[in-house]
Amino acid sequence: MDMTTKFMALVVEKSADKQISRSIRERAIADLPPGELLVRVQYSSLNFKDALSATGHPGVTRQFPHTPGIDAAGEVVSCDDGAFAPGEKVIVTSYDLGMETDGGYGQYIRIPSAWAVRLPDGLTLRESMALGTAGFTAALSVLKLERSGVRPCGGDILVTGATGGVGSIAVAILAQTGYRVVAASGKSADAGLLRGLGAAELISREEVSTGAERAMLGERWSGAVDVVGGTTLAAVLKSTKYGGTVTCCGLVGSPELPVNVYPFILRGVSLIGIDSVSCPREIREEVWKLLASGWKPAKLNDLVTECTLEGLEGQIQTILQGGITGRVVVNLQ
Ligand code: NDP
Repeated sequence: MDMTTKFMALVVEKSADKQISRSIRERAIADLPPGELLVRVQYSSLNFKDALSATGHPGVTRQFPHTPGIDAAGEVVSCDDGAFAPGEKVIVTSYDLGMETDGGYGQYIRIPSAWAVRLPDGLTLRESMALGTAGFTAALSVLKLERSGVRPCGGDILVTGATGGVGSIAVAILAQTGYRVVAASGKSADAGLLRGLGAAELISREEVSTGAERAMLGERWSGAVDVVGGTTLAAVLKSTKYGGTVTCCGLVGSPELPVNVYPFILRGVSLIGIDSVSCPREIREEVWKLLASGWKPAKLNDLVTECTLEGLEGQIQTILQGGITGRVVVNLQ
């Protein structure tokens, strides 16, 4: 392909006085970072981290101008090391994509071939981005719960931030694999959606964190998927049953964890950290295969709001305020 070929991308810039601005403009393939694999992106998605990158959060992106988008799915244009054939469909999530490496909010990405996973049978490119990093993280959380011995017969599983990307897909996977799911959410208006995904019970955010300051709370959860952190995660740990497991992937509430050691030393509770970014390739492929088969949410499409690059700005503002329900898929075709 002619490296002078132009494409449209969202570009985030930082001015000399450190002001961040976003615009949609033409870029050239020649300006993309080095890498063996050139992909024509058909779909991307919006994650909380993308909104941080788009607003110049230094914990995500420090080099500008920059194109965010930690998720991309599309067709291989060329692959210098022969790992993929032109025309193959691939999913690229995590690693450095959309952080310091130009990401999926452009119609082309160039990356190391090791970052890509073949689109598994059973998923379309659009579905893979309806899942995206959020869906991958939800599935990885469920996999870790199961590997630590959590089972449907053990009792209720709690999912916090339940209407968000990770939360909504975790609710769906857990419900369709036989768990009784309690969904904690700040959005009472989305009760119908959560019920439709299979949540057996809905509770408010406040109910989860009530009593977080106490030494311990009554045993309630056999396991939990937490995206909130802070006092919410502290209260979840203190109310997890003997031998239960809690996964921690997010910090929408707070990065702090004000907890004591009692849940661990009196109830043998396990806290498992979830990292999608550097997750080893074998696990990555296993998780995508699960998401393409039995763990693919039956109502995945109900979770999707689709937008173009032009429509992203409003969605970025909404996700920063915790207002997104489900997943936003970005159509770059
Ligand atoms: P979303 O914004 O889609 O969802 C987060 C949800 O959390 C919101 O929809 C809301 O749900 C709830 N929420 C928002 N603000 C608050 C608050 N202040 N207190 C309590 N609940 C709140 O984000 P994602 O699902 O994409 O990501 C969730 C978290 O997981 C983020 O922190 C993200 O950075 C992290 N993450 C980590 C990954 C990893 O590899 N470790 C990978 C992917 C995500 P509701 O209204 O229903 O309560």
